[in-house]
Amino acid sequence: MIHEILPVGMLQCNCSVFCDEQTREAMVVDPGDEIDSVLQVLAKHKCKVTAIVITHAHIDHIGGAQKLKQATGAPVYMNANDIELQKMMAVQAGWLGMRTPEAVEIDVEADDGDRLTVGATEVTVLHTPGHTQGSISLWMPSEGKLVAGDTLFRDSIGRTDLPGGDGRQILRSIHDKLMPLPDETVVIPGHGGNTTIGREREFNFFLQRL
Ligand SMILES: [Zn+2]
Repeated sequence: MIHEILPVGMLQCNCSVFCDEQTREAMVVDPGDEIDSVLQVLAKHKCKVTAIVITHAHIDHIGGAQKLKQATGAPVYMNANDIELQKMMAVQAGWLGMRTPEAVEIDVEADDGDRLTVGATEVTVLHTPGHTQGSISLWMPSEGKLVAGDTLFRDSIGRTDLPGGDGRQILRSIHDKLMPLPDETVVIPGHGGNTTIGREREFNFFLQRL
């Protein structure tokens, strides 16, 4: 499985491009901005997007989704609990002093336990609310990878002071859905460098009392 991570936009959201070497089917996670660069990566690997997945409806993660959808025709997956937040895009743009991006229509509601496939690789949706009510993480068992959105970071966890945030809930989500994963699981957070479940279990200050 080809995997490229592009930090995009003002807040450097990690946009992941996964592409199956055989079928050339691709999944793009969190196309927040810089869609031209995302399309260049796809073209370089001769990949065709079959799924656009939004881990949560913050502007830095969803801002470029409509542009990517228009360019590729791929369906957009998001958890329905973030639709309220998605409707606040102009407010979110105001927080950052940026232009409101074109709204995107969600094609598929991504619920806990849902599975999608990228070529031969299975991706399981884990509903991990707390950073936002509709936050999801993506678990790819055969790759040993977890795309964590803004739920879990290297040495930190997602902020919970924005609308829809809940500090107790994010800890419960991490404890119930992420900590059961194998220690060697590579975590790709929504911002910053990769980590592993084992490393965060041992060293992440926010998880010490779980
Ligand atoms: Zn966020």
